[in-house]
Amino acid sequence: MRPWNFSAGPSKFPEAVLHKAATEMLDWHGSGMSVMEMSHRGKEFMQIRDEAEQDLRDLLQVPDNFAVLFMQGGAQAQNALVPLNLLGLKPAAKADYVVSGSWSKKSFQEAQHFGDIQLAATSDAITQIHGTEQGALTWFPEPSTWQVRPDSSYVHVCSNETIGGVEFNDWPRLDVPLVVDVSSNILSRPIDFTKVDVAYAGAQKNAGPAGLTVVIVRKDLLGFSNPHCPNAFNYELVAKNNSMLNTPPTYSIYLAGLVFKWLKEQGGVVAIEKANQAKADLLYSYLDQSDFYRNTVAKAVRSRMNIPFLLNQPQLDELFLTEAAAAGLLQLRGHKSVGGMRASIYNAMPLEGVQALVDFMKGFEARHG
Ligand code: PMP
Repeated sequence: MRPWNFSAGPSKFPEAVLHKAATEMLDWHGSGMSVMEMSHRGKEFMQIRDEAEQDLRDLLQVPDNFAVLFMQGGAQAQNALVPLNLLGLKPAAKADYVVSGSWSKKSFQEAQHFGDIQLAATSDAITQIHGTEQGALTWFPEPSTWQVRPDSSYVHVCSNETIGGVEFNDWPRLDVPLVVDVSSNILSRPIDFTKVDVAYAGAQKNAGPAGLTVVIVRKDLLGFSNPHCPNAFNYELVAKNNSMLNTPPTYSIYLAGLVFKWLKEQGGVVAIEKANQAKADLLYSYLDQSDFYRNTVAKAVRSRMNIPFLLNQPQLDELFLTEAAAAGLLQLRGHKSVGGMRASIYNAMPLEGVQALVDFMKGFEARHG
């Protein structure tokens, strides 16, 4: 059996998909070619691409008035490409950002280069929630507190802060378009496209391998890009060319397509959401009753995907990681900005893997607590 991999991304793949890709590696469906060797304009790859888009649309119930773009550059490139493509929606070239963790903070900072960018709200301060003190970036600013300028082109938020472990998806219906970085919880739960106007994600957590970036954008927001926006990153041009304006990341699209088919076999996004909830509940309920470990995120916004936790005796961190790896539990080290541990339990992690982690944690606590 392979070890359990808790990496935040690139992260664990569904094993069935790895096997399928292995069997198709040298000869895809009798074509005599690996997908890597195919022309991106040939009929074989066009079929792979079209099925991947359709499966993604089916899974997320993407309405017809949204374009699905397969791009490159990762989610961080979108920190520049969102303003380059969308600030022009209104003449004032303004946008408002909600900062709820490291990733949305990066988005906010990069957007500054392109226009009049303001904070709509930030959780980057200690606050009181239900009478208990909540640390900076461990909570999510209530939508009722957001300061959105009526002449803003869009509001930007992050639905799951991969480092802080803060997840929020209860979006308000705003008068300006809502742009959501869904990199680390895409396909783990439904997206309400009556409230979300643009959703983007680096694929390398729930959707596929690194190298593919998915952008889902309402079609009437296309056509307002900054004249300096490179063609290869211009949403309107990419949409018009079916994500084939230049050579797309063909093998990543193929693998993402296999992940989408796997997810359909699991019962789709509603079924996987239930499984994700059960996995997260198992780990949080253990953390909450323990005096040895703790998670400091406000309970209402705890991530189902990325669960950071601290040992109350940080001098045991290295030993924890060494013993965990020996027990077949890999990549549990927390992000350096928060320390401690982080278990990323995306769609591909079965309940069995989370149970193995909890069993190990119990044993470690019994030996060292
Ligand atoms: N946003 C979020 C929520 C992320 O988790 C990450 C990567 N971990 C990024 C943005 C940046 O993604 P990329 O490395 O694809 O640029």
